[in-house]
Amino acid sequence: MDFILNMFLVIVLVSLFNLVRYVFKIRKIMKMHQDNPNIQGISIVNGEIKVIEKKLNAGVLNEAPAKELVKDIICDKELEKKDAYRVFKDGKEYYFCSWECREKFLKQYAEEEGSI
Ligand SMILES: [Zn+2]
Repeated sequence: MDFILNMFLVIVLVSLFNLVRYVFKIRKIMKMHQDNPNIQGISIVNGEIKVIEKKLNAGVLNEAPAKELVKDIICDKELEKKDAYRVFKDGKEYYFCSWECREKFLKQYAEEEGSI
C-alpha cells in the first residue's frame, strides 16, 4: 500500500512541477510577445508551446489603406486618399481630385486670408 501511495505522490509532484514549468514558459512567451498586436492566444501541443497569431491576409492588408476616402471640398467629390492632391494648411490636410481644384482652394484661401 505504501508503495502505491508513494508512486501516486511522485506522479502528483511531477505533474505539479510540469505545470509550474509551463506557467513560467507561458509567462516568458507572453512577455516576449506583449508588443505584438496580432497575438490571439497560446496553444500547447505535445508539450510545445506555440503562439497563435492572427492570420494576416495579404489581400486585406493591401486593400485596407487604399480604400480610405477623402473629400475634395472644392467640387464635393470623394476620392481615394492615395490619389488625392494635398495641401497642408493650419495643421489640417486638405485633399483635392485635381491640380485645378487644389489651385482653386489655394486662391480662395489666400482671398479669405486677405479679407480678414
Ligand atoms: Zn475636385
